[in-house]
Amino acid sequence: MAKSPEQQHPVQAFGWAARDTSGVLSPFKFSRRATGDKDVTFKVLYCGICHSDLHQIKNEWGFTNYPCLPGHEIVGVVTEVGNEVKKFKAGDRVGVGCLVGSCHNCEDCSNNLENYCPKLIFTYCSTYFDGTPTYGGYSDLMVVDEHFAIAIPENLPLDGCAPLLCAGITTYSPLRHFGLDKPGMHVGVVGLGGLGHAAVKFAKAFGVKVTVISTSPGKKQEATERLGADSFLVSRDHAQMQAAMGTMDGIIDTVSAQHPLLPLIGLLKSHGKLVMVGAPEKPLELPVFPLLMGRKIVAGSCIGGIKETQEMIDFAGKHNITADIELIPMDYVNTAMERLVKADVRYRFVIDIGNTLKAA
Ligand SMILES: [Zn+2]
Ligand SMILES: [Zn+2]
Repeated sequence: MAKSPEQQHPVQAFGWAARDTSGVLSPFKFSRRATGDKDVTFKVLYCGICHSDLHQIKNEWGFTNYPCLPGHEIVGVVTEVGNEVKKFKAGDRVGVGCLVGSCHNCEDCSNNLENYCPKLIFTYCSTYFDGTPTYGGYSDLMVVDEHFAIAIPENLPLDGCAPLLCAGITTYSPLRHFGLDKPGMHVGVVGLGGLGHAAVKFAKAFGVKVTVISTSPGKKQEATERLGADSFLVSRDHAQMQAAMGTMDGIIDTVSAQHPLLPLIGLLKSHGKLVMVGAPEKPLELPVFPLLMGRKIVAGSCIGGIKETQEMIDFAGKHNITADIELIPMDYVNTAMERLVKADVRYRFVIDIGNTLKAA
């Protein structure tokens, strides 16, 4: 008979999990493995709420196993390390993003792209090497192979940098990989949510000219004054879009709802790159003719490898980049999820795990 979540491992742990497709989260007792030779064990202090958490707890992607304990924007302080751990010691500030395991043998792993490993293990809703389910950061403690642990710069506040572990790397990686990180370039950011606001901050820190493209005219002031974008386009305003045609070296498209690509492709210069980082449930229509005219590229990108995630957070430390967050107590999480459905957050909820997660 399969062991219960409380009996699978020796260390008792506590968090909030969803039990069914209602997605309602409630207190959940489970267990974590003892600190292995290469493991880092840490006390979780903060965990961001990513839009994927919302999809997963409701099984909207079709592969959720319940109980589902989400959270992959996790930061805390190391309490114990294994004998072979080199990068961390007790007391260090540490983070974990979307990944906790990969094969370490494939071509992608060899190129520090664990995020594209066919055998990657997600931080939650996956099965670990030992056959037990992975549970995420809406919990009191984490145990992780040190390879997947990220050192957090001393100057960054832990709550504000938690979202960088998913939203940050998801936007930093394509800016770097697609060469959209050169001063003087012009980059568009479509959608001003958790991902979009991180994209604006990183692109500005690279010295790039940033234009936010949004369906909501009301976000203009926010984008240009608070986040420092250079300009703002209302995507439904035909005249504005027309005037900006052929001006962008690249676009980071963070929108996960259905939306037309044609106007975005039109904004690109020749050789411009439209990079999708949102994940619409249904395929989008791809107009090919305008791609041919100007040798343009439509591409995708998904989070980033561990080496690049460390590079991203060190860069964030150097440039004082954090996410704009609304800090919430653990028992507010279900309300936060309802608000997230309506995009009613600027720009990321972060759960104050350390102060508000109380063992039942
Ligand atoms: Zn995420
Ligand atoms: Zn691999």
